[in-house]
Amino acid sequence: MPPRIDSTLRVAVVFKDRCQPKRCHLECIKFCPPQRTGTEVIWIDPETAKATISEETCISCGICVRKCPFDAIRIIGLPEELKEDLVHQYGKNAFRLFRLPVPKKGSVIGLLGPNGIGKTTAVGILSGETAPNLGHYRRKKPHWDDVLEYFKGTELHDYLEKISAGQLKAAVKPQYVDRLSKVYSGKARNLLAKIDVGGRLDALREPLGLDSFLDRDIAQLSGGELQRVAIAATMLKDADVYFFDEPSSYLDIYQRLQVAKVIQGLAKEKYVVVVEHDLAVLDFLADTVYLMYGDEGAYGIIAEPRPVRTAINVYLGGYMKEENIRFRPREIRFESRPPRGDWRAETLVTFEGLTKRYEHFELTVQPGKLRKGEVVGVVGPNATGKTTFVRMLAGEETPTAGTVQGKWQVSYKPQYLESVYEGTVRELFLTAIGKKAESGYFETEILEPLKVRGMLERDVSTLSGGELQRVAIALCLGRDADIYLIDEPSAYLDSNQRMEAAKTIRRVMEREGRTGLIVDHDVYFIDMVSDSIMVFSGEPGRTGVGEGPFPMRDGMNRFLKMVGITFRRDADTNRPRINKLDSRLDREQKSSGEYYYAIEEAPTAS
Ligand code: ADP
Ligand code: ADP
Repeated sequence: MPPRIDSTLRVAVVFKDRCQPKRCHLECIKFCPPQRTGTEVIWIDPETAKATISEETCISCGICVRKCPFDAIRIIGLPEELKEDLVHQYGKNAFRLFRLPVPKKGSVIGLLGPNGIGKTTAVGILSGETAPNLGHYRRKKPHWDDVLEYFKGTELHDYLEKISAGQLKAAVKPQYVDRLSKVYSGKARNLLAKIDVGGRLDALREPLGLDSFLDRDIAQLSGGELQRVAIAATMLKDADVYFFDEPSSYLDIYQRLQVAKVIQGLAKEKYVVVVEHDLAVLDFLADTVYLMYGDEGAYGIIAEPRPVRTAINVYLGGYMKEENIRFRPREIRFESRPPRGDWRAETLVTFEGLTKRYEHFELTVQPGKLRKGEVVGVVGPNATGKTTFVRMLAGEETPTAGTVQGKWQVSYKPQYLESVYEGTVRELFLTAIGKKAESGYFETEILEPLKVRGMLERDVSTLSGGELQRVAIALCLGRDADIYLIDEPSAYLDSNQRMEAAKTIRRVMEREGRTGLIVDHDVYFIDMVSDSIMVFSGEPGRTGVGEGPFPMRDGMNRFLKMVGITFRRDADTNRPRINKLDSRLDREQKSSGEYYYAIEEAPTAS
């Protein structure tokens, strides 16, 4: 949400991927008041064939923003002083980044903000890969001398001087690890050995759990394995500054904390900057956090640094007091007590003890039942049989032993998404779910809260990871089914989108009386989305045991006991915070058996 201000620095942005002058009636030009009286404000650039807006002649009436059928325009007024802080602008009517974070040796610096707010842009600058243009986007190649002159006398000057001169070397772990398998071939061990000039691979094998797959081909690795290869490859590089963009996707909670510890160790001697949307992990991992706010895709501002606890509390609160900026209408709250688990709902599926045997894998599922309208959070390591269980419910797999009462239509969102579809998002929906894709229900209950509406006319192949994820969730929820199996919906979503996705999933299940099985590793997300918890355990790829669904308290306790992690509650906001292993609270909570919620008080006799 843009700040309200009186004196203005006008920012006009045209989203190039949305603007399609050939498919509209040029509403932006036709309805622009100054344009109608002869002042040129908006025109179609012959070179790019996209709308172009003059920030000088625009009067900020906002009519073009409302009239554009593709939601491709933003006109924003910012405080005039911000002009001084413009660090980078991608082009005319393009994204602008204001200010930069300052890396510090000895602490892990976190960047927290929505997708499209400039985190990757900031990382690109701080890693020395791109010299920022300070707003002079017409210059072919910005010069570092100008940048250093601009930052003279600031904390960042020395850092930028060294990084631009190559005296500081940077290593970056990119966000999309899925792509690794397309770039490299051969065994993971060979790839890492090539980078490991300092002989440090051995020290990473155990904490990152690399041994089980070092001798496999990169092409055969799962997302979680690729993530650990990418993290190891980055850490092995002989650098001074390390950037980790979303180190947690595809990893289970135990692995997330292992990675966090390794990164913290690195920060003792090096500069480390992380971008992370799993707030429980960021809280555990970072020391200092820069919140980023603005208008996604249009501009991003980096706020003052805050200690991690305060930063996350402010983020959840949605309001920055010092800056007087509200960036979310409501705060996000956590309950320190579990919801009542005894609500009544009709049973949808009953399953007895089930067994499924494959050549190398055996799954056992304890008896249980799923209720209509219930959202079950499914937790546990990958490859312990979660998908196999649901395939048995769908009748796609026959249990080796045991039976499922009935056969259920399942709508499934897989963990890994590939944008192989040729066509627009709207066409994809029409092909996959038919007429329902045009219903008011689909639009208001699914597309709007997931912010997919603005993407309808875009080609699926142009979507970013987070956009593709939201389209895939919408598609899954839009299909008619009894059970919705949604596998890792949080991957590539920013923290806010995760909460919106959780709410959307809950609402659809409740309203339609359906059952959701949501597999995810982000504990805050699981807390927000679930009515109950199903716990899978075992030895990944060999054996799996499924138990539950359990009420929240019981399910969280079983799950967290399995991974050996306890959460305390933040005194101000109630949000769960991971305890340090073996700290006083960790030990106390483990002995009382309360891993997540406040200790249950004994009922008082009255
Ligand atoms: P984040 O990492 O926070 O998701 P990015 O830094 O990747 O954000 O991008 C911020 C905005 O800048 C996005 O809207 C993106 O489309 C835009 N952007 C990124 N790279 C370019 C580029 N080379 N040219 C034009 N716009 C770009
Ligand atoms: P999860 O959903 O927990 O990641 P899955 O149910 O997908 O786990 O898989 C559990 C194990 O079963 C994996 O090791 C997988 O390779 C194996 N598996 C799944 N389907 C088959 C099959 N049709 N044939 C043989 N093995 C399979």
